[in-house]
Amino acid sequence: MSTLQALLSRSNSHCELCSSTTDLSVLPVPPKSDDTNADRCIVTCQFCKEQINQTDTLDANHWRCLNDSMWSQVPAVQVMAWRMLNRLSSTETWAQDLLDMMYLDDETREWAESGMASEESDTPTLDSNGSVLSAGDTVTLIKDLAVKGAGFTAKRGTAVRGISLTGNPEQIEGRVNGVRIVLLTKYLKKS
Ligand SMILES: [Zn+2]
Repeated sequence: MSTLQALLSRSNSHCELCSSTTDLSVLPVPPKSDDTNADRCIVTCQFCKEQINQTDTLDANHWRCLNDSMWSQVPAVQVMAWRMLNRLSSTETWAQDLLDMMYLDDETREWAESGMASEESDTPTLDSNGSVLSAGDTVTLIKDLAVKGAGFTAKRGTAVRGISLTGNPEQIEGRVNGVRIVLLTKYLKKS
């Protein structure tokens, strides 16, 4: 039986994240991904796959599907749901709530986190001047930024203290006006 067949039988021919039944294909879950081992793969629709492989814009509404799929008994699905909730949680409070509810056993958590770490590893996060940013740094905005969804503008010159790094070297997270938001590093400088 091929991996795809094994996965289709496991998922009853549904995307294991959003339950779509169209354009299903195998998605290995890194690291140590092995597309011949169904336990290390999930089956997803084309849309989920594109979103997973995309680093910038997530369709938050689509990912409400994690509300259901995070309870899957399949560790590979749990890992992918956990990672996507992590990415969403910087802008979506419901994602953070789900993440708080989610339970992963130790082995699965390690798998989930190691995949995140490998994304962060090589490329340093740099500010607009090319200075390396680290978690906990304070940065200053060099441009007025409209904060989507929160309904305010973060003014140029605003200091953001205690930033966190993300899996994407072009983004950091920090608190502005009490709201945790993702900021593009090209619009800020290290203080
Ligand atoms: Zn899907």
